[in-house]
Amino acid sequence: MYRAILDAGVGDDVYGEDETVNRLEATAAKLLGKEAGLFLSSATQANLAAMLAHNARGEEILLGDQYHIFVSEAGGASVLGGIVMHPLPTDEFGALALPQVLAAIKEDDPHHPVTRTLALENTVSGRVQDPEQHRQLIEAVREQGLKAHLDGARLMNAAVALNLPAADIVATFDSVMLCLSKGLGAPVGAMLCGSTGFIRTARRLRKMLGGGMRQAGVIAACGLYALDNNIARLADDHERAQQLADGISTIEELPVKCFTNMVFIEPRDSDLEPLRIHLQERRILIGRQNPPLRLVTHLDIDDEGIDRVVSAIQSYYRLPRK
Ligand SMILES: *Cc1c(COP(=O)(O)O)cnc(C)c1O
Repeated sequence: MYRAILDAGVGDDVYGEDETVNRLEATAAKLLGKEAGLFLSSATQANLAAMLAHNARGEEILLGDQYHIFVSEAGGASVLGGIVMHPLPTDEFGALALPQVLAAIKEDDPHHPVTRTLALENTVSGRVQDPEQHRQLIEAVREQGLKAHLDGARLMNAAVALNLPAADIVATFDSVMLCLSKGLGAPVGAMLCGSTGFIRTARRLRKMLGGGMRQAGVIAACGLYALDNNIARLADDHERAQQLADGISTIEELPVKCFTNMVFIEPRDSDLEPLRIHLQERRILIGRQNPPLRLVTHLDIDDEGIDRVVSAIQSYYRLPRK
């Protein structure tokens, strides 16, 4: 990837003249089966541009109450777009229920915001969503005039897990966001794909959001490298996550779940801080989250690393404890 940076041809992307960005946008659009693509500086910015492109002020998005756009993007669609977000219950598999989605679509009445967009996610905290269920949701809301957007930050984990082309999974969506810097391992950037007209609108919005970058080829080269080399290998991350979960499952007091490249452990409250310190002393850092704690595998985690984490967690649970 570093060598790809050295070799990248650059130009001014605000004028559409950066050959590497142009190649990345065309490559992503082809990969996702859409007419056009746009390179943005982050997945959050890409979701925001998509929401602003689909919805005018006072219009409404339906989405899951655990989805990233609702929970983890600082309310950007509402703050910067005057867009209403109607969160719906996300079930234990990360999915929304069709009857609840349909019931949330508002009637044409001056009291209500105008429901405009359904925003879905895949994977949802590692959980792969059923493409058939997404298709049914989208077809049902499209009859009511809604658009469908996919927050596919981790879409490629779903594609690899399902062994399906990403373009098939997202075929019914109007717009798709794909993050280059999560499992795909680029340092920065995300792609937004959709129709030519939608991407033209999103390009103006990207500029408005301060995301028009000039000689962006140096980072686009990383994205191209990631799309060319780092998709199929996500299967290794999934396998290692499973190894990690299997190792932890030998510990009776520590409930564990595994979805694609994510492992969730649920230490008792009294173990949280001591476990974190025990691991830190062995040079293993885990986040200060509320349980369940999320452990994520990625291209910098090898088999030896998994063994080391499993041994360290096991050694903690062998100690005498309160
Ligand atoms: C990480 C993530 C984003 C946003 O990514 P940033 O790089 O933090 O902007 C959006 N959606 C999902 C599902 C994510 O996991």
